[in-house]
Amino acid sequence: MSYVCMHCHKETKTLEKNAVRCQYCGFRALAKKRSSIAKEISTD
Ligand SMILES: [Zn+2]
Repeated sequence: MSYVCMHCHKETKTLEKNAVRCQYCGFRALAKKRSSIAKEISTD
């Protein structure tokens, strides 16, 4: 599972399930990276 750091916006991977931390800056808030970003965008 890949995550995107909410601080430096770099893509990072978690080695341990309980240790969710950016491997670049150490920020502990990561967002799950989705392959289908288009689904989040709704254009009515
Ligand atoms: Zn980071």
